[in-house]
Order: sequence, then structure tokens, then C-alpha cells
Amino acid sequence: MAQRRQRRSVTEYVEGILSGDRVVLSQAITVIESRLAEDRALATAILEAILPDTGNSIRIGITGVPGVGKSTFIESFGGFITGLDKKLAVLAIDPSSQRSRGSIMGDKTRMETLSRDPLAYIRPSPAGTSLGGVSTRTRETMLLCEAAGFEVIFIETVGVGQSETAVQGMVDFFLLLMLAGAGDELQGIKRGIMEMADVITITKADGDNVKAAKKARVEYANAVHLFPPAPSGWAPEVVTCSALHNLGLDAIWDSICRYEAKTQGSGFFQQKRKEQNMQWMKDTVAQYLEEFFYQREAVKTELDSISAEISAGDMTGLGAARRLIDQFEGSLSGS
Ligand code: GDP
Repeated sequence: MAQRRQRRSVTEYVEGILSGDRVVLSQAITVIESRLAEDRALATAILEAILPDTGNSIRIGITGVPGVGKSTFIESFGGFITGLDKKLAVLAIDPSSQRSRGSIMGDKTRMETLSRDPLAYIRPSPAGTSLGGVSTRTRETMLLCEAAGFEVIFIETVGVGQSETAVQGMVDFFLLLMLAGAGDELQGIKRGIMEMADVITITKADGDNVKAAKKARVEYANAVHLFPPAPSGWAPEVVTCSALHNLGLDAIWDSICRYEAKTQGSGFFQQKRKEQNMQWMKDTVAQYLEEFFYQREAVKTELDSISAEISAGDMTGLGAARRLIDQFEGSLSGS
């Protein structure tokens, strides 16, 4: 049997996090990510204790298709932010990490400079069994980082449509990176994702690409102009940048600051966080119920035989679900 890793007391975790101790912070995040039942209780106790010290950061979602330049951008923009003497945490949601290929975390040399920056903290989130699970853990990890004093939080995700909605549900500001001249379909960017963006940044605006980037900027600016007005009252902005040459980063930071000032002033900022809190509750309950369901012995046993029938083509998904639910309900009345 695998040995249970050494755990600290709740007080040790909490004091370590609040004093900004990165080793303890990382260990606490490991507890948050753990799937062991006894760690869930510990994770909840840590979260409840640090909750009064959370909420003091600006939470920024960053997305774009592989190759758009996310790592390079986060490295440069992250350096720009720590250059303002702000503490930055970078959390990466990687929905593809269960697969062997195509992982955004696959490249070990990502963000090398930023990872050595004393004001920056980088933490990849492993993919859970469900996207809901990933987002729940990422949200909790974000709160630990806030309690540890990080003032700016990046949540990075691959822009292929799966995880953006989950990320949108936990950030204040959404930054979409786009390539010039690649076409929307080619970039796999859905219109829905573009509509979520508070700023769209055309990347790699340097050298021979400057002209194409400027043209794309105008095209996207015209496109977002046609979108229905966002409830934030903020009109999405389209800018260009070169992460390689540190160009345009100040304009992006300026947009973020203006967005924050505007939405704080209107009350939208706080309202959005309250709605996200409601969603957090729903996600957590849904995740708990799903785990509870599949852990029932009666469900497990039924699932084994149903899987065989589905593979043989003898059962519909709906029929299978009904049988599992019957078994689940039967097991509840028996317990
Ligand atoms: P990711 O897959 O979205 O994380 O993209 P990367 O950051 O790994 O970048 C993909 C490729 O684009 C790499 O070869 C980078 O060197 C290149 N790249 C990234 N940013 C820039 C930029 O600002 N200018 C230029 N010319 N190339 C860039």
C-alpha cells in the first residue's frame, strides 16, 4: 500500500501560507489537489482558515491556441509585472495532461526566467478526472496564493474551447491571445471565446509580422465592435504585442488597470465575484455528488456489467444511466 505522505497541522499550513513561505504553500496546494478522503478534510480546514486573507488580487485568465506564444508572453508580461514590484502567481490548467501528447506543460523549459524570479510563483494544475474537478482545485489554489500575498494571478489555459468557460468562472479579466493572419477557424477559436475576452492581443507583432499584426488588430477591433455589449460595461480592446521584444506589454497592463478601476467603481467587479462564488458552490457539490455516486459498491458492480453491454452494442447510454441510477437509489435506501 502506498504510504500516506507526511502532513503538517492545519496551523502550520496556515501560518506558513500567511507568512508567504513557498515551500509550505506548495505543500498545501498538494493537499488541495489530493484525492485522498482524509486530505479533503484537511484541505477544507486550511481553506476556511485562510479565507479572510483572500480576494486581494486581480485574477487574469490567459488563453490562446498552442503556438500563439502563451509561454513567451507570460514570461515577458510576468516579468513586466514583477518589474512593477508586484508578486505574481501563474497557475496553468492543462486539460490535455492526461494524454501523452499535446500537453502545455510538456516543455520543461517554459518560463525559465520567470521561474527564477523571486516575485513570481509558477504552479501547473494537473488535470483531474473532470474539468469541473480541475476548476475547483484551481480556484482553491488561487485562494491559497492570494493568502500568501500574491497580488496578480494568471490562470493559463489552452484555447481549444474546453476549459475557457471554467476559467471565465474564476477570473476577473480575460485575455485572449491571437495570431495574425491565421484565420479564426485555423486558430480553433470559437466566437464564444472571443466574446469572453476583455482584451484581445495579437501576438508576435515584430519584424516582418508587424504589418499583418496591425491589419489583424483592425479586423478584430471591427469584429468585437459588433458583439452585444458586455454586462461589465467594458468594451473589449484589441492590441498588438511582441513578447520577444517586450513591446505593447505596458498597454495591456494599462487596460487591466482601467478595467479594474471601472468595474470596481460600478460594483460589477464585486458582483461578478459573488456570482463566481455561487458557481463555486455548485461545482463543488456536483463534483462531490459524482464521486459519491461512482464510489457506491452497487454502482461499481452494475457499471462493470453495463460497460460490457455497451461495448457489445446492446445498451443505450440512457438505458445504462437509468440502471445505474436505480442501483444508486436502491443502495441509498438500503444503507
Ligand atoms: P505557446 O504554445 O502558446 O505556449 O507558444 P510559445 O510561447 O511556446 O511560442 C511558440 C513559438 O512562437 C515559439 O517558437 C516562440 O519563440 C514564438 N514566439 C512567441 N512569442 C513571440 C514573439 O513575440 N515574436 C516572435 N517573432 N515569435 C514569438
